[in-house]
Amino acid sequence: MFPGRWIIPNVRKCPDLKIKEKEKNDSTPASNEPKTCAQCKETISGNFLTAMDQHWHPDHFTCAVCEQPITTKKFHVNDEDKPVCSECHIKVYVKTCFSCDKPIFDKCVQAMGANWHEDHFLCGGCKAKLIGTQFMDVNGAPFCQKCYLSKHADRCKGCSKPIADKAVVALDAKWHQMCFRCSKCEKPIMKDQSYKLDAKTGKPHCVKC
Ligand SMILES: [Zn+2]
Ligand SMILES: [Zn+2]
Ligand SMILES: [Zn+2]
Ligand SMILES: [Zn+2]
Ligand SMILES: [Zn+2]
Ligand SMILES: [Zn+2]
Repeated sequence: MFPGRWIIPNVRKCPDLKIKEKEKNDSTPASNEPKTCAQCKETISGNFLTAMDQHWHPDHFTCAVCEQPITTKKFHVNDEDKPVCSECHIKVYVKTCFSCDKPIFDKCVQAMGANWHEDHFLCGGCKAKLIGTQFMDVNGAPFCQKCYLSKHADRCKGCSKPIADKAVVALDAKWHQMCFRCSKCEKPIMKDQSYKLDAKTGKPHCVKC
């Protein structure tokens, strides 16, 4: 299974709902043209709200999630252009950090099937932030390239150095592609190339050597 796949964490602004404001208006003076409520489509006679370029009965400007009237000046707008109250915004749209369990209000790292604060997505070895850099998932913990190579990577039978990329599996061992060579002509033996083992030394060599 190792080496696995190098992954670059996805960082996005979280939550990404737009914030809008609504305005409270006193009852329309008789001279103004009558306002129609965007929700019930009836004429508004008393106080009304102006929000999202429309007019509303104060009780009819409701949250798309909990369906309660939105009482705060600021509210959020979801992808379907429906208003969402700030409580539901936190409950439904704000992500929780997998490490500290607290809501994420700014940059959200999406990696390994979870969400993380930028400061909390850290290498399991050196604890460095893993933003804009590749990491490897080792049994559910992210590791930076340096730590992965020094602690977890397979070692090459030829040069004993860690193998960062795909290993050649041969002779019950793993090798760098360039380290798995013909013992006679010294050329690397490629993955789909067949080879023989020297009867005396047990070392691999190309078929024609
Ligand atoms: Zn209404
Ligand atoms: Zn709500
Ligand atoms: Zn956190
Ligand atoms: Zn590290
Ligand atoms: Zn090697
Ligand atoms: Zn050869």
